[in-house]
Amino acid sequence: MSASPSAASAEPGFTTRQVHAGADWAAASPRAVPLFLTAGFTFDDFDGAAGHFQEGTGFGYTRTGNPTIDALERKLAALEGGTDAVFVASGQAAVAVALLGLLGAGDHVVASTHIYEGSRGLLLDNLSRLGITVSFVEDIEDPDAWRAASHTGTRAFFAESIANARNDVLDIAAIAAVAQERGIPLVIDNTFATPYLLRPIEHGANVVVHSASKFLAGHGAALGGVIVDDGRFDAARSGPLFPHLVAATRAGGPSPAERHGGRARIAYVRETVAPRFGPSPSPFNAFLVAQGIETLSLRVREQSRNALAVARWLEGRPEVESVDYAGLDSHPHHRIAERYLTRGYGAVFQFTLHGGEAAARGFVQAVEVFTHMTHLGDVRSLVLHPGSTSHSQHTEDARRALGVHPGTLRLSVGIEDIDDLLADLDHALRVSAHALAESTVEVLG
Ligand code: PLP
Repeated sequence: MSASPSAASAEPGFTTRQVHAGADWAAASPRAVPLFLTAGFTFDDFDGAAGHFQEGTGFGYTRTGNPTIDALERKLAALEGGTDAVFVASGQAAVAVALLGLLGAGDHVVASTHIYEGSRGLLLDNLSRLGITVSFVEDIEDPDAWRAASHTGTRAFFAESIANARNDVLDIAAIAAVAQERGIPLVIDNTFATPYLLRPIEHGANVVVHSASKFLAGHGAALGGVIVDDGRFDAARSGPLFPHLVAATRAGGPSPAERHGGRARIAYVRETVAPRFGPSPSPFNAFLVAQGIETLSLRVREQSRNALAVARWLEGRPEVESVDYAGLDSHPHHRIAERYLTRGYGAVFQFTLHGGEAAARGFVQAVEVFTHMTHLGDVRSLVLHPGSTSHSQHTEDARRALGVHPGTLRLSVGIEDIDDLLADLDHALRVSAHALAESTVEVLG
């Protein structure tokens, strides 16, 4: 409490003390990321408040900035090789905010067919209602397919570096070149790869998004999402396509491009999209994600090694029809994966059992080390049956086209000892095969 002349004489009342006493804590330099779990920040003086609102200096309110979140954003920008990053409340929010920073009514986006179902839903159910149209590309390795799907109204390409559900790997440089021909950004969801395995900006992508809830946080305790920008917005070339980045503000002030140059895109996201739509993360979640990232390389290296061992092992099992892992020679994108994923092929992939849904049911009910849940990138190994869960809204034909069959199971491989993982899978395959044999006998009987 300040000792103003009028307040100095009397001791404040109990309730005033319970709110204000102890507020003059010592300044210190914590080595771990400090957690600023606060809605807002005091202004030093009148001019400090005015400066914050008029020029954006300092911190005022956590929805528009917070030192814990700021530290995480700088860490993420550095890891992805971008110029700046904006952290939001979830991966879904990151995809939405990144696209809303680029697209408006009448605009068109070309997206890979092989994306997370939440992103597909955002494009088809939500952005479509705002007048934003989408075309999907099935053969994502073919630059001409992206070229053919785009037109003069196209304002962004969107794809995943390693994709849901079939583990397709994008030839980022080739598709970025097509986007570049049109002066539009390639937006990459890099959740499955993480910046440890792959940094899309180094290959020509312009915007990277993540579900930070997955590998970045790593321990399944917090949700978060991030948008990272390459800072290479070219106002002369692309300004006419993105008028909101080069037009004066509503009050007649200088445009984002005039104020921020090549960083106009991410500045617009930070100033005008994220705080207005409002998917603000808790500083506590930012703290947890920042803690998680400190061991990212160790976890992802180990998880990728485990995943490759699991995928090879599964490929040799008679109960298994196919394994969709980019690290295997048999995967159609293995050559692309070898070029882009030199440190490992990631830890999330799917495989398909011969016995269809009945075999998959038996399998998920038998695992003990693997956890049956909808999540990925965790230190723990996880399993999910996409056909009856994440992809259940599709018709059977649409599921098949996406590579999701009745016997398909998605694994996210964790850091456990590989022998324990293989023993668990072996046990689950045996239980599932046994249950299947019994049910077949019953039907025949
Ligand atoms: N992008 C990908 C590739 C995902 O797998 C997910 C979630 O599974 C998301 C985005 C959405 O992230 P969140 O669950 O953090 O909203």
